[in-house]
Amino acid sequence: MKTIGVIGGMSWESSAEYYRLMNRHAKARLGGHHNARSLMLTVDFAPVEANQRAGDWHALGAQMADAARQLERGGADLVLLATNTMHRVYEAIEAAITVPFLHIADPTGEALRAAGVERVGLLGTRYTMEQTFYAGRLRERFGLDTLVPGDEGRANVHRIIYDELCHGVIEPPSREIYRNVIEDLKARGAQAVILGCTEITLLVKQDDSALPVFDTTALHAQRAVDWAIEANTQ
Ligand code: GLU
Repeated sequence: MKTIGVIGGMSWESSAEYYRLMNRHAKARLGGHHNARSLMLTVDFAPVEANQRAGDWHALGAQMADAARQLERGGADLVLLATNTMHRVYEAIEAAITVPFLHIADPTGEALRAAGVERVGLLGTRYTMEQTFYAGRLRERFGLDTLVPGDEGRANVHRIIYDELCHGVIEPPSREIYRNVIEDLKARGAQAVILGCTEITLLVKQDDSALPVFDTTALHAQRAVDWAIEANTQ
């Protein structure tokens, strides 16, 4: 099995979920005492979050590239970035390493296409919902149209991620806000919804959603494990 390198810590609450999901999936596929071979480099999220707010994506690219290099030096055969938002700078990561990088939007885009979805709601941070890097990739590579919540919905979705979910705080009233946002996306024509922030899955499950849920955390973690198993050189 190949070794998966995860750039984690953004936030660690969702990185812990990656760890659990990767190992669960390896066990589901291989049985017995199998784990997913993995390394995780947990960055300090405070300076990352400060640079996001300052819009310093150049500095963020350098921080992510540095983390990816360290993982490759440590023996990673594949690198994952365990946050949707920071894929804004994925080119800096790809340029820094010689091993493959698995973009988080790709397993999700493929799953949506396989389900016959053409128009999909996108929930995530303000950066993911409002900038073009994420919706653009879904359109260019998978032909998907994305819809995002209106002003108030985007503000609430973003605030709940940073003020609650990244601190491990799960509040039922916030789940209700997400439920309503998803219902609104459905009323506007979305056929499914992307949980396009790796913490949303901590709050929102399929039963909370009026639309089929495509969880980037689970899809990304599972695809990495499939790759690590199928590449098949011990
Ligand atoms: N984990 C989040 C995401 O998937 C947000 C935190 C971050 O800014 O990286 O976008």
